[in-house]
Amino acid sequence: MKVYNIAIDGPSGAGKSTVAKLLAEKLGIMYLDTGALYRTVGLKAMRSGWHEDNDFVSGALASTDIKVKFENGVQRMYLDGEDVTEAIRLPGVSDYGSRFSALPCVRSALLGLQRKAAEENSSVLDGRDIGTCVLPDAEYKFFLTASVDNRAHRRYNELKAKGLDVNYDEIKADITARDERDINRMVSPLRKADDAVEINSDYMTAEEVAKRIMAFIKK
Ligand code: C5P
Repeated sequence: MKVYNIAIDGPSGAGKSTVAKLLAEKLGIMYLDTGALYRTVGLKAMRSGWHEDNDFVSGALASTDIKVKFENGVQRMYLDGEDVTEAIRLPGVSDYGSRFSALPCVRSALLGLQRKAAEENSSVLDGRDIGTCVLPDAEYKFFLTASVDNRAHRRYNELKAKGLDVNYDEIKADITARDERDINRMVSPLRKADDAVEINSDYMTAEEVAKRIMAFIKK
């Protein structure tokens, strides 16, 4: 069967990953969480005290080993041989991932990994620039949005459920800062592809969003 890809972009906390997982399950295809790649770079930057300079980071990345592996269909991230799948979810890492993702050398270093994964298997990819830059020819493109309050509440509940001690106002501030950076960066900013279908998920569950996307795909 021909390989096909579904691109889901949108701001932080819009429900992209939950919807992408549901779709991958329903369609029996792979799910690639591209934010996990940027978070892995962020974790390295945080641990190693990198500064946000493109030439410096370009050199440092040359001796950094980032791998995506699928174990029983589940994505795991490896940094210099260490499984960091859980470590990249800790709150401080998202800020580093967001800041370093604005550097051109980081974006070009991760582009090949994303395209290769999508070329090899039919996949759902979620991120910020999948429909515009990573896979401009993806068969299906969606752009998920929701109000900043809803997105912050969702992220808060998600982290709480993991047993983390989190503060709602801090989460909302983090999401707002990350969106602003993603929208205003020079290389592959967050924006809806012209041919993407926009879905506002403010009054919809993830299951409902996935159903709507399935309906588009079937059409
Ligand atoms: O999606 P997630 O919140 O895990 O992504 C972490 C950070 O990585 C985002 O805040 C964003 O700045 C960056 N990112 C990106 N492009 C992508 C995916 C994530 O710039 N395709």
